Amino acid sequence: MRQSKKLGQCFLKDKNFVKKAINRAEITDKDIVLEVGLGEGALTKELAKLAKKVYVIELDERLKPFADEITSEFENVEIIWSDALKVDLKNLGFNKIVANLPYQISSPITFKFLEEDFETAVLMYQYEFAKRMAGKPDTKEYSRLSVAVQYNADVEFICKVPPSAFSPKPDVNSAIVKLTKRKPKYSVKDEKFFKKVLKALFQHRNRTIKRALIDSSHEIEIERDALKEILEKIESEFDFTERVFKTPPEKIGHLSNLLYDEL
Ligand code: SAM
Repeated sequence: MRQSKKLGQCFLKDKNFVKKAINRAEITDKDIVLEVGLGEGALTKELAKLAKKVYVIELDERLKPFADEITSEFENVEIIWSDALKVDLKNLGFNKIVANLPYQISSPITFKFLEEDFETAVLMYQYEFAKRMAGKPDTKEYSRLSVAVQYNADVEFICKVPPSAFSPKPDVNSAIVKLTKRKPKYSVKDEKFFKKVLKALFQHRNRTIKRALIDSSHEIEIERDALKEILEKIESEFDFTERVFKTPPEKIGHLSNLLYDEL
């Protein structure tokens, strides 16, 4: 079978990284695990040995021979032949996620996962994406993605994975990340609006919050002059002179709430 670049088909060959991902997920026979992307089943087989049940969502039906081999050996594996972005995850009842993700869907699949109720997810991403997910304020990796993911999950960067761990070798480095789902540490009044504020701010991460907001006022759908007036009105309640990349997530949440109240 010719592996598809478009579907991110770089299969994990180095058993050390398979082991590392599985160990960090701490799978027990009580766990129901979701995997996205079967490939040749490198992760699936190891998950099946430990978990109560493994659901695997795979888009490419040319991988059926690998699926058949696995499902005939392990009764606890169920393959869902579909686009993971389109599957309703609500009814699967999984509590853990383990996956070497197709990198082209990294962002939408991560936010889809974060809408679900799970305990932990051990996931493989492109290295730079993983670094940005785990990014802390005042570092070069701190981004819109850091704040959005860390809103309801703790992110732990586990390790870098070199191209030599895969076949075919990707052009980029990868990394394993562990997400632990939790309740938000600060509350936002409107999550959609909060995401818009994040987008507006991080388009200008080196500017002050005031400058960034004014320059991206269209992202929060407030007219530039109206926004200037709002900022003047709430200036005593918030320090708009801080640089975006230095502003901690909870402060951005507070800012989003202040702006939301003025709309
Ligand atoms: N788990 C295997 C491994 O570690 O070797 C395969 C990982 S490979 C990086 C990603 C897999 O995801 C491929 O098998 C690919 O066909 C599949 N895939 C790509 N896009 C998908 C989608 N939208 N939904 C479900 N599976 C997808």
